[in-house]
Amino acid sequence: MPASAAKRLLAYYDAHARALPWRSAPGTAPPDPYVVWLSEVMLQQTTVATVKPRFRRFIQRWPTVRALAAAPDEQVLQEWAGLGYYARARNLIACAREVARRGGFPGTEAELRELPGLGAYTAAAIAAIAFGERAAVVDTNVARVIARLQGIDRTLDDARADIRKLAENLTPADRPGDFAQAMMDLGATVCRPKNPRCGECPLSPDCQAFANGNPEAFPAPRQKRQRPHRHGIAWWIEREGELWLVRRPAKGMLGGMAALPGPEWSDSEPIGPRLATVSHGFTHFTLDLHIVARTSPPDADGWWQPLDRVGEAGLPTLYARAIDAVLARKDALAA
Ligand code: SF4
Repeated sequence: MPASAAKRLLAYYDAHARALPWRSAPGTAPPDPYVVWLSEVMLQQTTVATVKPRFRRFIQRWPTVRALAAAPDEQVLQEWAGLGYYARARNLIACAREVARRGGFPGTEAELRELPGLGAYTAAAIAAIAFGERAAVVDTNVARVIARLQGIDRTLDDARADIRKLAENLTPADRPGDFAQAMMDLGATVCRPKNPRCGECPLSPDCQAFANGNPEAFPAPRQKRQRPHRHGIAWWIEREGELWLVRRPAKGMLGGMAALPGPEWSDSEPIGPRLATVSHGFTHFTLDLHIVARTSPPDADGWWQPLDRVGEAGLPTLYARAIDAVLARKDALAA
């Protein structure tokens, strides 16, 4: 992409930048690295629309990285509930504590990479957006834009190394943070996976996929993997309007989150009657969680949660849906 194209893209960004609660307006003072970091971690695998209100709440509760570092794990995990991918919340806590220990975020991409749980993408985003470093920020949206600009017809996975190099060459020394956000916005709102709005795109004069006439053909679609299926049992133990909940072990799936009790998940479907079954997609497998009635807790390690305040327990989506499914069934039977 010639320098003139980067200029055009920045001019487009100045006029059309999305107003997001974690952003500074184009051309103004950069946002705090804490804000950039937190938003980028929340946005991994979660939509902008979902993240916006959750981000505001989070920032209100812990306005600085020091405040977050001082918060008890359970409160942070509770606030994270529903955002999914709970390993992220655990990494968030570990990273906040390390940053607080160091007295603040380091200012370069290389140093940011040393922080616990902070990957290449997030390090580049913080370095470019908060510190103005010429770092190449490549998420899936940006990778797609670059693949189309360069007419790359391999899958994004196959072309990953080439796209990374191209991104490094494309990133200008002037306003690299705004450039990164401009590319993100372009990928999210103009150069969409389906029906890209090439007529409005400031990069169309430089775009090989556009010139080819069928921009959607670039990059090649990712081959769909069959996700394996797993099964879990969750025990429904209820007494006088209260439900027995436990905290999952700190390590492993949904680590440290509130949950319905139950044995380890396995590959085989259990037999016997259930109150309900809910399916939930994790990154590497789909889980069918079967909810089974039980009369008493298996041990003392848990607590009785009033059913009318079950929403306050900080349950991850899987267990919140499981409880909803049982309550809906009970309502239907009572009607
Ligand atoms: Fe994407 Fe079309 Fe712009 Fe090319 S011209 S970058 S395909 S929106």
